[in-house]
Amino acid sequence: MENNNIENIPRIIGKYTSNTKGPLLFVTGGVHGNEPSGVIALQKVFEELKKTRPEIAGTIIGVAGNKQALNQNKRFIDEDLNRTWTKENVAKKKAATQEQKEMFEIIDVLEQYPESDFTKRYFLDCHTTSAATVPFISVQEVNDNDNWAHKFPTYIIRGFSDIVYGCIDHYLSRIGVTGFVFEAGQHEDPASIENHEGVIWLALKEACSLDLNQISCYPECVDNFVKKNAPEQKTFEIIYRHGLEDGDKFKMEPGFENFQKIKKGELLALQNEEEIRSKWDAFIFMPLYQSQGNDGFFVVQEVEYQK
Ligand SMILES: [Zn+2]
Repeated sequence: MENNNIENIPRIIGKYTSNTKGPLLFVTGGVHGNEPSGVIALQKVFEELKKTRPEIAGTIIGVAGNKQALNQNKRFIDEDLNRTWTKENVAKKKAATQEQKEMFEIIDVLEQYPESDFTKRYFLDCHTTSAATVPFISVQEVNDNDNWAHKFPTYIIRGFSDIVYGCIDHYLSRIGVTGFVFEAGQHEDPASIENHEGVIWLALKEACSLDLNQISCYPECVDNFVKKNAPEQKTFEIIYRHGLEDGDKFKMEPGFENFQKIKKGELLALQNEEEIRSKWDAFIFMPLYQSQGNDGFFVVQEVEYQK
């Protein structure tokens, strides 16, 4: 991975506007410090914007998430920056950990771009996963997030972001910014950078009316995501979470991929020597193959999207 690019990363990776009133597109990368893909994609996008200077409506700003952890290539320093954004923590206005300090710095940046200065405010939070996966959007079902998410051509998961408290997307949704989390693929997979770059360009088109033909890397920098790496758009909802207790001996059956079809009765895992079988004809989501975590797996069902 192009790690040398992300040493001493500044908080603001880039900012671009053609001084026309319009929306704000607030893009975060590296909220988890071991996920530099979004940061690298943002660097590429701003380099291209600087070079070709296309017309856009409004402003895009790219922001580094967990700066200190990014610079050390660690997931976090004291605590997970994607769990700190609770109402209580934000109200305290005083940082008790390195990550809370990062959080308040990011809030300070956003506060320089108030709602009143823009026609609308959007966010895009860029992540990657430890296991291989097709790129997917995780959308919290509040405000107009779900409609916005459906402008993007890949799998969309509803209900996953809703069950984890303290994420940055909760905070942004809570203050009325529209957006979603984008999981681009495995941490070190070069395709993750392609997917992040593609989704940022598409967000610029959808939010800030960018004509993609104006940029010199088009179509490749968009089609790597849209045509090469992304599955066709489908919408899924979480129907089951298989939670684990501390001390549980859990072993997923080998070979499950994210979004793989599962059948009723199929053996999914062993937990404390007992067989866990599927009660559903559905799809498996985020099967646990690493040693840590309290989620064994999720089961998701495909649903129709109605506008
Ligand atoms: Zn992440």
